[in-house]
Amino acid sequence: MEKKKPRLLSGDTPTGRLHLGHWVGSVENRVLMQEDYDCYFLIANVQAFTTRMEKPAEVHQNVMDLMMDYLAVGIDPARSTLFLQSDIAAIAELTIFFSMLVSYPRVMRNPTIKDEIRDKGLGDNYPFGFLLYPVNQAADILAFRSEIIPVGEDQIPHLELTREVARRFNQLYCHVDTHTDDADYVKKGGLFPIPAHKLGRSRRLVGIGSPAPDGNLLKMSKSLNNAIFLSDDPDAIKKKVMAMYTDPNRLKATDPGKVENNPLWIFHETFNPDKAWVAQAEERYREGTIGDVECKRQLIDVLVNLIEPIRTRRLQLEQDPHYVISVLKEGTARANEEANHTLILAKEAMRQRYF
Ligand code: ATP
Ligand code: MG
Repeated sequence: MEKKKPRLLSGDTPTGRLHLGHWVGSVENRVLMQEDYDCYFLIANVQAFTTRMEKPAEVHQNVMDLMMDYLAVGIDPARSTLFLQSDIAAIAELTIFFSMLVSYPRVMRNPTIKDEIRDKGLGDNYPFGFLLYPVNQAADILAFRSEIIPVGEDQIPHLELTREVARRFNQLYCHVDTHTDDADYVKKGGLFPIPAHKLGRSRRLVGIGSPAPDGNLLKMSKSLNNAIFLSDDPDAIKKKVMAMYTDPNRLKATDPGKVENNPLWIFHETFNPDKAWVAQAEERYREGTIGDVECKRQLIDVLVNLIEPIRTRRLQLEQDPHYVISVLKEGTARANEEANHTLILAKEAMRQRYF
């Protein structure tokens, strides 16, 4: 008999198109892992409303864009389930129950929430639902009793919260001993596996813009206007790389060129398959004997080679929105069966199934 594949879940907020940060942080892993895992990929459109509640048409377009990006990078609907968060009622129901298992100070201790409030300039004007989104994310993951979650570094605090929710639920309602190892919760009668995260080969790719006021480079992010998208054409890639932030003090006699913390070299190290060229060029950059423009030209070639096949497939999908929607519809129906089943089991465990 064929062994059941472990369940994998990952997803994105439809706040824009997929970019290089998504690729090295999570999407590359998702494409590769489709063979060995039972994959669920979520479009978190409810979560998009935490910062885009006034822009429903934009969220709608972003859902379509994200679907086309998924299919263009090689997510295969014959093997993987692509689905829409807002159509899975069980996720919303589980979110409410799970929100009782998390204290308010615990939600506020989440460093990613603090970073997002700062980097997205939310001030103190973010909605109540924004603070709820990590709990909502716990429901996304646990509704499918997922075991492995490919994500970027910023998601680790959210995953930790999900693990806490899963342990607590299993302890409170499935009577699993509090000293149980994470790997043994289901064996001991728990409903939810304690999920593990899987980081990509770059945990946090930086953006192409200037650093934050504290000098730290910001992560590449759809919302921060500092991204190179997997749908950018060669011309857009060229313009972005040419305008990219490098080392502002370059070519001063005392400091010819800095490689560390320089997006130009972070990108070469991450994407350029010619490691020998990168090592040699970094040496010359430090000595001030190679120009920014030459290094940027090389980077443009590397990125166009990576992105152009994806963009070409995407152009074909843009001609066929009915196909794109039909994939989402089928995946969402499949996801609903699974999540509804989990919800019934969760209600049973909580002794709230009366009929
Ligand atoms: P937003 O700006 O709306 O928060 P985002 O660009 O941060 O968007 P998300 O939808 O929040 O993208 O993240 C989707 C997934 O991609 C998450 O697993 C996240 O960790 C990963 N990811 C996003 N940006 C990066 C990055 N720059 N480097 C590595 N991984 C990333
Ligand atoms: Mg984000």
